[in-house]
Amino acid sequence: MPVFPNAPTTLANLPAPVNPRRGSLFVLSGPSGVGKGSLLKCLIDQVPGVIRSVSATTRQPRPGEADGEDYHFLSREQFVADITSNRFIEYAEYNRCYYGTPLEPIERMRDQGLDVVLEIEVQGAQIVSTLIPDVVMIFIQPPSPKALEERLRKRGTDSEARIAERLKIAAAELSCLPLYDFAIVNDDFDQALDQLKAIVVAERCRIPNESQS
Ligand code: 5GP
Repeated sequence: MPVFPNAPTTLANLPAPVNPRRGSLFVLSGPSGVGKGSLLKCLIDQVPGVIRSVSATTRQPRPGEADGEDYHFLSREQFVADITSNRFIEYAEYNRCYYGTPLEPIERMRDQGLDVVLEIEVQGAQIVSTLIPDVVMIFIQPPSPKALEERLRKRGTDSEARIAERLKIAAAELSCLPLYDFAIVNDDFDQALDQLKAIVVAERCRIPNESQS
């Protein structure tokens, strides 16, 4: 008597492995200065097939940032026009600048089998989790609030006033942890990176839920 009444009776009838698989979508959030950018860069260097979605923003480029690589740097007018033409899956205002995720490249890259990572703040992350139920939500935490403050100062890219604003935003962001599937504490960088890689690799073994893909 078979345990599963509708199970195939010979191995020949078993479903084939899912190949090629559609890429997964990951959201990576965490307060400014927590090191999520560095973790993502190492993840992409070390795990083939992972790609970062390039967001649009109205903030000024920092030294060393390239248009089209780090961000698409847009004027406020252009950004608003892109909102109107539904170019973004989500957008948010953060620290008086707009940030948004273009939808079309994400779908294209996932269809090519690439795992796509959105490095975005919590308001946008919440929207993505509502619109794309199979998104994997990862939050990077600092070892302590003090450690975060020290990291922001060391980075040397923001004025004291901006640092104070970023810390205020960070407090609100840290309270959004329950929105996420995974939390990684970035105390020891290599350990945090190993945990991030483990999540991405484990997702590649997930059996797709047909109703969500
Ligand atoms: P930064 O100015 O330090 O590059 O980014 C500020 C914050 O905006 C970070 O938390 C970053 O993750 C977030 N961010 C970057 N791109 C996007 C985006 O497309 N959408 C949203 N909602 N947040 C973003």
